[in-house]
Amino acid sequence: MDCIFCKIAAGEMPSNKIYEDEETLAFYDVSPQAPVHFLVIPKTHIRGVDEINESNSGIVAHIYEVIAHIARQLDLDNGYRVVTNCGDDGGQTVGHLHFHVLAKRTLAWPPG
Ligand code: 5GP
Ligand code: ZN
Repeated sequence: MDCIFCKIAAGEMPSNKIYEDEETLAFYDVSPQAPVHFLVIPKTHIRGVDEINESNSGIVAHIYEVIAHIARQLDLDNGYRVVTNCGDDGGQTVGHLHFHVLAKRTLAWPPG
């Protein structure tokens, strides 16, 4: 399968890694939208939120543990935003489930 995040997870494409364990990888976004902008992905290929089900949803809880861990390590004490875009209307451009974490600037709400 031609998936850039699978290739990054497999080490076949470079990334600026922050954290890695058996199931997940976190790396900085190549096109940052905030002073701190990283992505957390499952190493297994899940297309997006629309492919989460009873058998694979455990990874989502683990990813949130990873996000909280990294946020503590990066001293994101003033807060941050976690975003997952899904499908065309959601603005998803990479079809491998990922969680954006944006921090170190005030973020508008609601999003445009
Ligand atoms: P989406 O638009 O699907 O919610 O988010 C995809 C994100 O992946 C974008 O913010 C984009 O900048 C980032 N991205 C796309 N290709 C690469 C890449 O090869 N390396 C890294 N580090 N980020 C990427
Ligand atoms: Zn993939």
